[in-house]
Amino acid sequence: MTFEQDYKKKKIKMKTINGKIIASELNEKLSVKISKLKNNFNTIPHLVVIIVGENPASKLYVKNKSIAAERVGIKSTLVRFEKGINEKKLLDKIEVFNKNKEVDGILVQLPLPPHINKERVIDKISFEKDVDGFHSLNIGLLAQGRPRVIPCTPLGCLKLINKVTDITGKNIIIIGRSNIVGKPLSYLLTLHDATVTLAHSKSQNLKDLCKNKDIVIAATGIPEMIEDSWVNKNAIVIDVGINEIFNKNKKRKLVGDVNFEKVMPKVKAITPVPGGVGPMTIHCLLANTFELALKRRKLKIS
Ligand code: NDP
Repeated sequence: MTFEQDYKKKKIKMKTINGKIIASELNEKLSVKISKLKNNFNTIPHLVVIIVGENPASKLYVKNKSIAAERVGIKSTLVRFEKGINEKKLLDKIEVFNKNKEVDGILVQLPLPPHINKERVIDKISFEKDVDGFHSLNIGLLAQGRPRVIPCTPLGCLKLINKVTDITGKNIIIIGRSNIVGKPLSYLLTLHDATVTLAHSKSQNLKDLCKNKDIVIAATGIPEMIEDSWVNKNAIVIDVGINEIFNKNKKRKLVGDVNFEKVMPKVKAITPVPGGVGPMTIHCLLANTFELALKRRKLKIS
């Protein structure tokens, strides 16, 4: 069943924007294009994923990214470094991948240990291989409205919103102004003609700011912070948050920044956690890798 069929069928009852189904449809289309690249030009995209240290969440993320890449036909190389690696050694290794003609995309999994300067590492990645789109040049181009590589989570959010509404002229609030989610998302939605409010921990009357918005996007990292009283019945809610909590039985559970149980019955549409923005972020990483591979080879695949 396609997402559209699923949505039509469940719209009235569930209103859930199923990121898992949407991402899997997009991944299927992407894998067809990668097959064409392989068959017509005898080459496949190559993604290098770098992880520093033993953070369990990061380890799981990079593993999932590598598996997803291989699944659509992208070669993936996972490079692990000890937590104590010095910054120079890491920067030198990135430079080796920058120069390697066999590599199309480089990603350094965040967070990095505190002794390593995150900005220096991100800006060391060649902007032409920056699959995450975090390089200051790529962020600057996006801010100016001439994007080259769009960060994966913001791009995933846009694709989800586009599935349920036209964002032109819509009033949107993004709660959270990080460099990897909130800020680039505000540039991207502005570029697509939305009217954007970018809120953060110092914003006053946040609940009131949310109430009249067409679209509410939560990216704070605070479990279930957004309640039903914050949103109106026509709102579309995009929940970027991924938070681990433990329920009454001390069982581990993933929740978003939105109180899904309370908000879902009230609003027009909402993304679940897990199964909303997460799979779209991974899809956009794969799509970015493919696009960078085409650009580097000066090829076009329809
Ligand atoms: P950061 O911690 O970098 O940023 C959080 C932002 O939320 C900050 O701008 C902060 O404001 C704001 N904030 C914190 N508390 C409040 C509050 N009480 N009211 C309003 N704003 C507040 O987080 P990230 O952007 O990296 O991630 C946000 C969430 O998204 C996390 O749960 C993360 O796990 C998840 N995530 C999910 C992804 C996905 O693929 N689904 C990808 C990336 C992240 P201030 O700037 O003032 O401190």
